[in-house]
Amino acid sequence: MKNVDCVVIGAGVAGMTASIYLKRAGVDVLMLDQGVPGGQINRTSMIENYPGFKQIDGPTLALNMFDQTNALDIPYQYGTVESIENLGNEKIVHTDLEQIRAKAIIIASGRKPRELGLPNENSLVGHGISYCAYCDGMLYKDQDVVVVGGGNSALEEALYLADICKTVYLVHRRNTYRADDIFVQKIKKHPKIIEKLNTEVKEIREKEEKVSEISLTNGEVLSVTGVFIYIGQLPETSFIKDLCTLNDGYLVVNNHLETNIPGIYACGDVIKKDLYQISTAVGEGAIAASNIIKYLK
Ligand SMILES: Cc1cc2nc3c(=O)[nH]c(=O)nc-3n(C[C@H](O)[C@H](O)[C@H](O)COP(=O)(O)OP(=O)(O)OC[C@H]3O[C@@H](n4cnc5c(N)ncnc54)[C@H](O)[C@@H]3O)c2cc1C
Repeated sequence: MKNVDCVVIGAGVAGMTASIYLKRAGVDVLMLDQGVPGGQINRTSMIENYPGFKQIDGPTLALNMFDQTNALDIPYQYGTVESIENLGNEKIVHTDLEQIRAKAIIIASGRKPRELGLPNENSLVGHGISYCAYCDGMLYKDQDVVVVGGGNSALEEALYLADICKTVYLVHRRNTYRADDIFVQKIKKHPKIIEKLNTEVKEIREKEEKVSEISLTNGEVLSVTGVFIYIGQLPETSFIKDLCTLNDGYLVVNNHLETNIPGIYACGDVIKKDLYQISTAVGEGAIAASNIIKYLK
C-alpha cells in the first residue's frame, strides 16, 4: 500500500492549489482525480473574473495550473475515491483501483451538474443533451439549441453558444435571472438569443435516438437539436457521507477548513459557503494546505 503525508482528493482548482502549497512546504502529497485535471473549469468557455487574466478559457487555465504541479513533481494519480477509513492518526483512502495510507486528507471533490430529471435525459447525453457548451458547442454549429437555467453559468454559456449556433433559446423558470448584470445586459441585446422566461422544460422529444424538439410547460414546442443544461450543481460527497458532517450534501468545515474528523480538511465547491467561484476555491485551497502543514507538525 502507498504511504503519503497527504492525499488531495480532486485536482480541480482548489485541489491543485492546495497541492502546490503542500509540496512547496515539503509535504509528501499525492493528487487523486477520477477525471482530467482542472475539474469544472474544463467546462467553462471563458473566464473574465479571475484576477491576472482579462480573459482566459477554462481548459487553458486548467492546463496552466496542472503544468505548475508538474513542475513541482507533484504526483497525479487516476482513480475514483469510494470511501475513506478513519484510523485516528492515519486514514486509508479506498479508490476503485488501490488503497493509499495518509496522515491527512484534503477533500476538494467539487460539484457535478444537476440534471433536469426527465426520463430520457440520461440516454440522450451525447445525442443532443449536454452539460458542457465549451466541449460540445461546435457539434451544433448553425443549428437551433436551447440552454436551460438562469444563473451565471447558463447565461455565460448561452452567450458562448450564440457565437456558434443559429438560434439559442434560453429557458428559465423564473421571471428574472440570478446572474451578474453584465451577462443579463448582453443576453437582452443579443440578436440570436431568444428568452423563454417563466417556463420549464416539460418533455424532450427524440427522433432516431437524437433530440428533435422540447416542449415547455407554457405549451410551446421548440424545434432544437441540442439541449444544454445549467440548472445548478450537486456536491460530490457520496464517498464521505458516512464519515463527515454534511449540510445539504455539502461538507461542513470550521474556520480552519477542517471537517468534524481531525486531519480531514476540505476546500472549494464541495464545502458549504456563500460564493462558488475559482477565486474562492483557490483561496480555500491555500488555507486548507497551510492548516494541514500545521496539523502534520
Ligand atoms: C459552466 C461553468 C462556468 C463557470 N464560470 C466561472 C467563471 O467564469 N468564473 C469563476 O470564478 N467560476 C466559474 N465557475 C465556477 C468554478 O468553475 C468553480 O467554482 C471551481 O472550478 C470549483 O473548483 P473545485 O476545485 O472546488 O471543484 P471542481 O472543479 O468541481 O473539481 C473537483 C474535482 O474532483 C474530482 N472528483 C470528484 N469526486 C471524486 C472522487 N470520488 N474521486 C476522485 N476525484 C473526484 C472531479 O473529477 C474534479 O476534477 C463556473 C462553473 C461552471 C460549471
